Amino acid sequence: MIIAKSKSDLEKMRAVGELIAGVREALREMVQPGISTLELDAAAEKMIRDAGAYPTFLGYHGFPFSICASVNEAVVHGFPSEYELKEGDIFSMDMGATLEGFVGDTATTVPLGEITDELKQLLKVTEESLHLGIAECWPGNRVGDIGWAVQTIAEKYGYGIVQGYTGHGIGRNMHEAPQIPNYGRRGTREKIRSGFVFAIEPMLNLGTPETRTLSDGWTVVTADGKPSAHFEHTVAITNEGPEILTLTKEQKRKLKETKGESASA
Ligand code: MG
Repeated sequence: MIIAKSKSDLEKMRAVGELIAGVREALREMVQPGISTLELDAAAEKMIRDAGAYPTFLGYHGFPFSICASVNEAVVHGFPSEYELKEGDIFSMDMGATLEGFVGDTATTVPLGEITDELKQLLKVTEESLHLGIAECWPGNRVGDIGWAVQTIAEKYGYGIVQGYTGHGIGRNMHEAPQIPNYGRRGTREKIRSGFVFAIEPMLNLGTPETRTLSDGWTVVTADGKPSAHFEHTVAITNEGPEILTLTKEQKRKLKETKGESASA
C-alpha cells in the first residue's frame, strides 16, 4: 500500500528534506582532490546529528556508515574509505536523515576537477533524467510514467539503465511502496495521488546496465568497470504538481524565480 502523507506529515518531510539538502550542498563544497570519502562520511554524520536528526543509513540493514560513497565504477551503496578522491574521478554520494520520524533521501554525483567530456555528458544526462522523471509526478499519472521518462532519455544516449536498484516511496520509512524502476511503460503501474512522496533516483551507466556486488556485501559496481552516475531527490506529489523536498532554502528560492520568469515570459 502506498501511504499518502497528511499536511503535517508533509511539513515534517519538508523540514528533513531541506536539512539533508543542506548537508549535500555542504559536502559538495568539501569534495576536492585529496579528501577521503571517510572524512566526508564523518562530516555528514556530524552535520546531521548537530541538526538534531539521525543519519538514516547508519545501521540500516546493517549498513555501517552515514553516507554511501560510490566512486567511478561504483554505482551505489559504496563504503566510505581511506580512498582519497582525485582529479578526474566522479563521486556519487547518497545520504539520508530522519527528523521527527520522517526521512529525507538524496544523492548526487560530483565531478573532481576536470573530467572527460564523456563523463560530463553522463552526469548532465543522468541529472536531466531525474528531472524528467520528477516532471511526471502529477496526480493522475502512473508510476510507469516516471520510469518511461528516465528510460527514454537514457536510451537516446545509449546509457545502461541499472535495473536491480530502484526509486521508492518514502515517509516514516526510507523504503516504502511503491518501487519506482528507472524504466517502464507510460500508463502502467500504480496511479499517482496527491500526498504521495517518492524518492526518484536514476542510476545510469556509461556502458552495460549489468552490475555486481563486491565482497563487502554492499558496494554495487558496474559489471564492465565503466563509470556510473546517480542523482536522487525526495519529491512530494501535490495538486500543484511535484514539489522537490530535498532542496535548500536558497535552491527553492531560485527555482521559484525561474518558474516566475517562465510564467511571465
Ligand atoms: Mg533512495
